[in-house]
Amino acid sequence: MRVPLTVRDFLDRATLVYGDRCGIVDEPDQPAQPLGPLTYRDVGKLAAAQAAALDALGVGFGERVAIVSPNAARLLVALFGVSGWGRILVPVNFRLNAEEIAYIVEHSGATALLVDPELDEHLQGVDAQHRFVLGADSDEVLYRRDAEPRPWEPDEDATATINYTSGTTARPKGVQLTHRNVWLNAAVFGWQLGVNDRDVYLHTLPMFHCNGWGMPYAVTGMGGRHIVLRKVDGAEILRRIDEHGVTALNGAPTVINMVLDAARDWPGDIPGRGRVRVTVAGAPPPTQTIERIETELGWEFVQIYGLTETAPLLTMNRARAELDDLGPSERAARLSRAGAPTLGVRVCVDDEGEVLARGNVIMDGYWAQPEETARALDGGWFHTGDGGTIDDENYVVISDRKKDVIISGGENVSSIEVEDCLFSHAAVAEVAVIGVPDERWGETVKALVVLADGATVTEGELIDHCRVHLAHYKCPTSVEFRDELARTATGKLQKFKLRAPYWTEQAVR
Ligand code: AMP
Repeated sequence: MRVPLTVRDFLDRATLVYGDRCGIVDEPDQPAQPLGPLTYRDVGKLAAAQAAALDALGVGFGERVAIVSPNAARLLVALFGVSGWGRILVPVNFRLNAEEIAYIVEHSGATALLVDPELDEHLQGVDAQHRFVLGADSDEVLYRRDAEPRPWEPDEDATATINYTSGTTARPKGVQLTHRNVWLNAAVFGWQLGVNDRDVYLHTLPMFHCNGWGMPYAVTGMGGRHIVLRKVDGAEILRRIDEHGVTALNGAPTVINMVLDAARDWPGDIPGRGRVRVTVAGAPPPTQTIERIETELGWEFVQIYGLTETAPLLTMNRARAELDDLGPSERAARLSRAGAPTLGVRVCVDDEGEVLARGNVIMDGYWAQPEETARALDGGWFHTGDGGTIDDENYVVISDRKKDVIISGGENVSSIEVEDCLFSHAAVAEVAVIGVPDERWGETVKALVVLADGATVTEGELIDHCRVHLAHYKCPTSVEFRDELARTATGKLQKFKLRAPYWTEQAVR
């Protein structure tokens, strides 16, 4: 027998087995009226009511529904209400500016656009056939509780979500994740992390980022509880862990640094000591940070490695029994590797040192970009753009980034996009954008600029120019003026030479 794997499976199990349980605690402090607390029966009804609303609006199966929102119960429900009945959810990075979001809405061909109230004004110019501001008023239209949704013939190869991610092209690419990708990622992630019905999961990770790495599905399927967090703040994270008995959270190293800072001023015992497991990805956290998580916070540290294109789980490093007797620093050193391939994933390193992967979590392709898709999946392996090695225990170690991407605070920044923006300034003759180390964000964006003959412009003016056109986290935090930039004989920028002086202390860039 073959029964299609779809995201509805996670919701259906939660409503069937844990219907009376509180499934979602919404963020109390948000501009829309918070939902909830929602039992899984409520979540199931809301998701079905959302599907019925899409029927009523004429948004057919396979059509795209874009949503731009910080973490919120309405976004969490949409992961099921939209994808679970055959539409494709496009969760958009809410930190992008209006122009960038307009591109994604248009490129994905979204019929419906759902916007958080706080972003409404900023996104006035961004439109779709149906546009709604999330909140009590639009709930009437977006959840049709009086109607049964039209049944969707489940198809595991249908696209569940399109997640736009910045990469090596100036514009972000839309990663098409199928129901099968999402299902298997959530199942393996949930299994290897030991997600169970006692888990209380705090959403420190933005849900738009690779569907919150798939935890919304895994936690729902097991009947765990979701605690929605809208804004990341170290002390607030500790407070919510205390208040709700949180057992698991995920984040980029930046989030962890915020928690470690807040922990210094926290009166009394650190909440979640001996109970919380924190999963980190996006960049390799320093060994010292890992050690501090385990000793100062008393939380279990887990590292994963992957990309939006891989749903994302490719490797996991979770302390195995053999590490039990090691001292804290030795244990931390072992946990600093990206990890061993997860169940069903094959990883290898090619002759140029690039990490390649195969498995059922790897995307169907980039939306409407067949050439980029072919390039990424060339030879039947997914090309990660990351440089690394595989050690004698078969653990992957990420040591380098081959693609021209900067990762600041866990979010990808395309160097080319920032360079294009600086080039559009009349005073700029040449530019190279690189990532340089930053204590808070891991990496920060730096521009090296050669001015046009006779032109004058200040660092501040160039940064302001970028801030008009790009999301703020993508803008350079510093600009250095140069007489020339290192190039190859054929005129190509030698980024590794430009970057090297800034990375003398770090093994990884
Ligand atoms: P994204 O698609 O935005 O999730 O970004 C994926 C990229 O983040 C990867 O290609 C890596 O460059 C980086 N990354 C993710 N996890 C890790 C990790 N554990 N160690 C090093 N780099 C990582």
